[in-house]
Amino acid sequence: MRLVVLGGGESGVGTAILGKKKGYDVFVSDFGNIKYNYKEVLGLHNIAWEEEKHTEGLILNADIVMKSPGIPDKAPIIKALKKKDIPVISEIEFASQFIDVETIGITGSNGKTTTTMLTHYLLKQGSLNVGLAGNIGKSFAWQVAENKHEGYVLELSSFQLDGIRNYRPHIAVITNISPDHLDRYEYKYELYIEAKFRITMNQTKDDYLVYDADDEIISKWLENNKIKAQKIPFSLTHEVKNGVYLKGDTIISNINKDEFTMPTHELSLEGKHNVKNAMAATAVAQLMRIRKDTIRESLSDFQGVEHRLEKVLKIQNVQYINDSKATNTNATFFALDSMNTPTVWIVGGVDKGNDYDELMPLVREKVKAIVCLGVDNKKIMDAFSNVVDVMVETASMQEAVKVAQKLAEKGDTVLLSPACASFDLFESYEDRGKQFKNAVQNL
Ligand code: ADP
Repeated sequence: MRLVVLGGGESGVGTAILGKKKGYDVFVSDFGNIKYNYKEVLGLHNIAWEEEKHTEGLILNADIVMKSPGIPDKAPIIKALKKKDIPVISEIEFASQFIDVETIGITGSNGKTTTTMLTHYLLKQGSLNVGLAGNIGKSFAWQVAENKHEGYVLELSSFQLDGIRNYRPHIAVITNISPDHLDRYEYKYELYIEAKFRITMNQTKDDYLVYDADDEIISKWLENNKIKAQKIPFSLTHEVKNGVYLKGDTIISNINKDEFTMPTHELSLEGKHNVKNAMAATAVAQLMRIRKDTIRESLSDFQGVEHRLEKVLKIQNVQYINDSKATNTNATFFALDSMNTPTVWIVGGVDKGNDYDELMPLVREKVKAIVCLGVDNKKIMDAFSNVVDVMVETASMQEAVKVAQKLAEKGDTVLLSPACASFDLFESYEDRGKQFKNAVQNL
């Protein structure tokens, strides 16, 4: 059996190693460059590879192809494979055939990483030997090749889900759905929504779907489509049966007749969106029979994830917060929503089709000044010029942070929550967040 792996990054190299171990004839092809350390690893495992090209003669003879999530379906090589009816699957699909332990699959438009890491933390603290993978850290396939976990918590993007056929998570979580990545779905929102719900398609009545019952898109889809998994809703706004909800300021989780309660002020993560993430993680932990004391302690200990509403420093009583991972307006909505002081907001970058209207009420209420940080700030300037008096355009992180410092007064917050991708001025959102933290530390 010939396995061709397209893309020599973390998931590609992991898949290649697993494939080799399982006896496939493996070939890795990357249209860009493969990182030096990955080449070394491929060499060590005697796996053939090429870079800066896709040689059709070496690819179109595959029995099965694993495509890295970054490669779009419209890439010529994918079209050629589809034409020949060669199955193209994702890393999650490939690797999951080789495990006999359960996985928890977590998807959604925002909150995937936070919920995945929090869930993993809860289960680990509950003494389960679970692996953490998906878009985080060492690839799932690589960990399966090393075969040492009794379960996995996986962060799943819609691209990973596009490439599944038989993958069946025992517990699926959908944190929320809002428009994102539409460029990869022919600009059709329905296609993106369908991609997310693929997470449920192979589930049986012994499996679970944990989901945000306040999310209209999710509720509507569930009204119109049947799933076999047992539904475990969570909600900030109304009581739910067999699920998690808020009563006053207390989270109540009532799952399979077992009740767990916890006041929201004891959660380590702040913000309404994090109450939702905590609800999702709690539901999973209860389904996995983690002790309530452990769930409670873990929810109040969890240290958060870098670049997600990360508190950086307080300088002259101004709090600086790094939310560089907010690359769409929905994420920024929750960031602004959780501000409880006047806010100097650093925003901008590559706009993926933002509609700023949904932010208007929050901006009006909380934002005292806007610092634009992008190559093209026109859309932001136009959207908010009637709402915010002070707006300044900047062209580097250092400048943006300096300007923000000048505009902020004692008791204010400076929030980097760009609502945009980072590629105009930065390598990645991580780079943007790191530069922000450096600039703050150098003030
Ligand atoms: P993802 O992995 O889905 O991109 P992250 O956990 O990395 O999600 O968070 C991305 C951004 O979305 C951050 O700015 C974070 O503050 C915000 N966020 C986190 N959880 C939620 C949620 N449940 N709903 C909306 N926004 C969220």
